Amino acid sequence: MHDAFLGIGSNVGDKEQNIAKAISLVSRMERTVIEKSSSLYKTEPVGYSDQDWFVNAVIRIKTPMNPNELLTALLAIEQELGRQRGRKWGPRIIDLDILFYDGLILEEDGLTLPHPHLHDRAFVLKPICEIAPDFMHPVLQRSLSAIYDELPDTKQVIKIGA
Ligand code: ADP
Ligand code: MG
Repeated sequence: MHDAFLGIGSNVGDKEQNIAKAISLVSRMERTVIEKSSSLYKTEPVGYSDQDWFVNAVIRIKTPMNPNELLTALLAIEQELGRQRGRKWGPRIIDLDILFYDGLILEEDGLTLPHPHLHDRAFVLKPICEIAPDFMHPVLQRSLSAIYDELPDTKQVIKIGA
């Protein structure tokens, strides 16, 4: 079995429900178990600011799938929830990213691991630090909490229900 962290985001429609549905579909992937889930966070959009705020979360899973099988399964869940590919970093019903897959470092055409932007995005680091602050980033060789503490990203990331 392998250990992976997934980043989940939505900024169209009922965002919290979209994330709940995505988590439920992930839990039904073959022999895959959700080990931990972060809280949900309301987050300010990054990259292209003329769009609605997002809701983001991070989950930790155990899965027998290899990285490409996992990515294919996640893209299928995005499709099932009605995602249409539009502007890069633009509005989306659901976004499912592989943040880490074990300590694997990989650079292929359709898959980069660790996810190439996670270390500079508060909307990923704050939720992942809630569930795995001591996890070491295999490229940066620093813990997630250390990376988050030094993050210049000033975008707002607000825990829902806090
Ligand atoms: P983004 O998440 O950067 O806004 P998309 O969700 O539209 O962009 O993803 C575009 C492509 O990014 C996917 O089709 C996938 O092939 C590629 N990709 C590369 N690395 C990863 C990763 N670690 N997790 C998810 N997708 C990835
Ligand atoms: Mg994505």
